Amino acid sequence: MEDPFGHLISYLRVSITDRCNERCQYCMPHEEQEWLKRDDILSYEEILRVVRVGASLGISKVRVTGGEPLTRRNVNWFMEELGKIDGINDIGISTNGTLLAKENKEGITHADALKKAGVRTVNVSLDTLDDAEYAKTTGRDLLPDAIAGIDAAREVGFEKIKINTVLMRHRNEHELWDMIEFARERDLLLRFIELMPVSTTQVLNEDNFLPSGEARKLIEFRLGKLVPRPDIRTNGPAGYYEVPGTGQIIGFIGAMTNLHFCENCNKLRLTCEGKLRPCLGSHLEFDMREVLRDEAMTDKDVAKFFLNVVARKPEMHEFRENYQPGRKMIAIGG
Ligand code: SAM
Ligand code: SF4
Repeated sequence: MEDPFGHLISYLRVSITDRCNERCQYCMPHEEQEWLKRDDILSYEEILRVVRVGASLGISKVRVTGGEPLTRRNVNWFMEELGKIDGINDIGISTNGTLLAKENKEGITHADALKKAGVRTVNVSLDTLDDAEYAKTTGRDLLPDAIAGIDAAREVGFEKIKINTVLMRHRNEHELWDMIEFARERDLLLRFIELMPVSTTQVLNEDNFLPSGEARKLIEFRLGKLVPRPDIRTNGPAGYYEVPGTGQIIGFIGAMTNLHFCENCNKLRLTCEGKLRPCLGSHLEFDMREVLRDEAMTDKDVAKFFLNVVARKPEMHEFRENYQPGRKMIAIGG
């Protein structure tokens, strides 16, 4: 699938729930969360059908996200089924990590079950190593569980474990090198991510925004000049650098300040209630659930739907144009 700007679409990010066991300030609004009704959420079978059709059109990578994906029941069955789809050769999951070391109902840890299901990469969100700051940012006192989850993931030996750290001024700017050290000791790929206006919450304002360029300077002040490594690419928009002395690679994802951010975009998003979104930073979304639940519609119609959405993919996100999200990140799927 190719969009009008020459982006080849091969990556589908799938949110399987809007629910979460944490309450991150930048993701969820303060007020009481109203969860979607169960019927409004796509069933696993519906999602698998979307991925199957997507795979026939060139999707080869799927990342499962949420909300917190590990809070949805039978998630491991779903991951196993994903792995059986022809053409899907790269499966990842984004998680806050707090449940990775916990046992599922088969008596094995989620980390173990994900590995057995064929998951290749695990992205764990971790913004701070300070208990009080963690509790403040996530609304839950679960830092030890998140770290235990990361260690459980390391033990089972995923191909790649990435740590995603959202940059926030006054919150974790004095901890950036501790995060780097934490990742180095555990051989994890750390990426710093700029705060994006993708949620209807109060913390998403300029006071809390820490540009990735400034974060880089802060790190360089402590650790020496970072060496750009344009030769290193993952399946996304991160720019990578080498830490002098140790050779450790760290990444920066600057959706707000990197003007080339969208150039190599290869992604579509499926929200948990079945909206297909061509871009995180655009209001465009298209209701695929209607098609999936209409018995008269065949896989050919689902394929046509995919192609129509790809044809509407914008050239770049609208975050820099005073973008006002109509929906919260947790409901879109990060
Ligand atoms: N619960 C899982 C987790 O926390 O990794 C998966 C879903 S979460 C929405 C996916 C990613 O989006 C996390 O890394 C989180 O830090 C990031 N995120 C959420 N809101 C954000 C925002 N306003 N700006 C930047 N990143 C955000
Ligand atoms: Fe939950 Fe992840 Fe959003 Fe935090 S960022 S509230 S862990 S979905």
